[in-house]
Amino acid sequence: MSESYLVHVAVEAPQHSALSGPLTYRATHPWPAGSVVQVPLGRRVVCGIVWGAAPEAAAEEGAGLALRDVHSGLAGLPPLSDAWRALVQFAAGYYQRGLGEVALAALPPELRKLDDKQLALRLRRAQSMSLVPQGGEPELPPLTPEQQAALDGVDHGGVSLLHGSTGSGKTEVYLRLVARTLAAGRQALVLVPEINLTPQLEERFSARFPGRRIVSLHSGLTPAQRLKHWLAAHLGWADIVLGTRMAVLTPLPRLGLVVVDEEHDPSYKSQEGARYSARDLAVYRGKLEQAAVVLGSATPSLESWYHAQRGRYRRLAMPTRIGGAALPTVRLIDMNHVPREVARTSALSPALLAALGSRLERGEQALVLLNRRGYAPVLHCPDCGWKSGCAHCSAWRVFHRIDRTLRCHHCGACERVPRACPDCGNLDIQPLGRGTERLEEQLAAALPGARIARIDADTTRHKGSLEAQLSSVHAGEVDVLVGTQMLAKGHDFRRVTLVAALNPDAALFSSDFRAGERLFALLMQAAGRAGREAAHSAGSEMLVQTWHPAHPLYQALRAHDYAAFAARTLEEREMAGLPPYAHLALVRAEARTQEAAQAWLLAASEQAERLPEKGGVTLYPPVPSAIARVADVERAQMLVECESRPALQRFLAQWVPGLHALRAEHKGVLRWAVDVDPLAI
Ligand code: ADP
Ligand code: ZN
Ligand code: ZN
Repeated sequence: MSESYLVHVAVEAPQHSALSGPLTYRATHPWPAGSVVQVPLGRRVVCGIVWGAAPEAAAEEGAGLALRDVHSGLAGLPPLSDAWRALVQFAAGYYQRGLGEVALAALPPELRKLDDKQLALRLRRAQSMSLVPQGGEPELPPLTPEQQAALDGVDHGGVSLLHGSTGSGKTEVYLRLVARTLAAGRQALVLVPEINLTPQLEERFSARFPGRRIVSLHSGLTPAQRLKHWLAAHLGWADIVLGTRMAVLTPLPRLGLVVVDEEHDPSYKSQEGARYSARDLAVYRGKLEQAAVVLGSATPSLESWYHAQRGRYRRLAMPTRIGGAALPTVRLIDMNHVPREVARTSALSPALLAALGSRLERGEQALVLLNRRGYAPVLHCPDCGWKSGCAHCSAWRVFHRIDRTLRCHHCGACERVPRACPDCGNLDIQPLGRGTERLEEQLAAALPGARIARIDADTTRHKGSLEAQLSSVHAGEVDVLVGTQMLAKGHDFRRVTLVAALNPDAALFSSDFRAGERLFALLMQAAGRAGREAAHSAGSEMLVQTWHPAHPLYQALRAHDYAAFAARTLEEREMAGLPPYAHLALVRAEARTQEAAQAWLLAASEQAERLPEKGGVTLYPPVPSAIARVADVERAQMLVECESRPALQRFLAQWVPGLHALRAEHKGVLRWAVDVDPLAI
């Protein structure tokens, strides 16, 4: 009789219960914890990860039910480490998702399909990935005293918040930290918020680390590339991993440093599946693997700022721009003083046009930001009041003049612009408001001869088009660049001396409590695009067109005073009982009708009332989501709030598993999910 072993295996089994733990299998081979195996599940064979040996008692649990056998496994793949499994286990528990779901989503999809023979070939390919070529011994700039102090601060270990102005040399600090990490024989993980920023960073890292292996991990890779890069990281062959949020779960056997650049960026929070925050997981991971964690930003998230103030994170400040470049002067253009006829017909105030004109004369570049793509956010009929609503969503369809379509940015529905008002037949239907397309047109009319380019999601849809457009900006082939917030992030525009934000006021009065924080970060970030070259920085400006110039947010922006903005906003949050002074979870439900979605949430809250221990948790009444209907599905949500994070976690752990059964009783509910630490409520 051959020997047999019992193992726990994490599998993706959402149809049973999203929260089920590992399942028990019998195996003829003592698969160590962390092995990737194939196991039968229902009628299928699925990929799973061995979570550990199962106690003998597990054999009796199913009483009579024969345990099934592990089908096969990847013997050639080193097991995923204890630390990696601990990280995944934490993420699944914290964000209320299935262990197998989180664990398997962290693997490259290609890995699940391999047998040992195919794996061997892939491993050989990963091992023979090229190293950064040996160039001349790179010349290192001497560090500024601020950079040196930051570097020394990180040496104390733990979590550091690097609060450095745009252009203060944060990336140089990351490079030095990575060099130290590699010299100590360890690996470095560097996270950035967007794929667009990875090539730029790869270039800088490659120039600095000849003879090393650098891999990237983000959603823009082919499945084969992703597998290769992941294997190189997991086997310890890659020294540096650069990636977006998904990379935070990359297994790294010798992890010594995690950098989270632009740590305040909302892209670090996943908006589907397990809605994890890569920044928060990076902090947890640092503790697990005794790796230093550096969170860098010119405008830290208020959560991180708060932790730094309370001493949980070490605050490292770099307020000075490199080379003595000055931060741009921020000028607020009071739109109340712009004649009404002018404001009605043009997005551009006379003061802004004059500023653009003089930049043009001097051969300098300008950046004009408007956070709305398309020609106009809505078409309307002045005769009967018809508006271009989406038939499937509670949203307007946006007018795109370029192909004369009305497009819904929520469900994607697209139709030709009607020739006449669908309600009254009026031939003269008109655009209301303006988007980047219309702004581009107005700029061209107002600045004859200027070379104007537009960069937004519409002009950068094709692979490589963003790079091409950016390089023409760098080459000086563009005078005025128009675009959405996409332009504000990270790009090193050397000749831009004027940045203008057209109508950011809406965020001041948004129901989203983080809107102000995001706006401030965006405007600071945008200001950081101007005057990066010391030679041009003296006269560089940021102009903000606003109807509320006295608003404290704009006053703090004018003074480049993040600390003042943070102090005031934290005070407001404390009074309102919002994060970081309270901890939130949002339960979302989708159904064919709003009533069905809310009824389910109500039943869920009644279930919470019956729990023995609610531990100071407050459940708010169900409400329709901000955009209540998308693609004919109604969406509702319910807020759960608690002063204590552990108490909220204990409550969710008791409550959420029962909701799976409750869902079965409410046939009308299509989907539901819990979002822990939601970005918007
Ligand atoms: P940040 O990441 O804070 O925006 P960077 O690290 O990109 O800033 O630095 C801005 C510019 O200054 C880059 O061109 C960089 O090469 C340069 N730089 C950084 N540190 C130094 C230094 N100590 N001496 C000279 N130049 C530096
Ligand atoms: Zn009409
Ligand atoms: Zn729609």
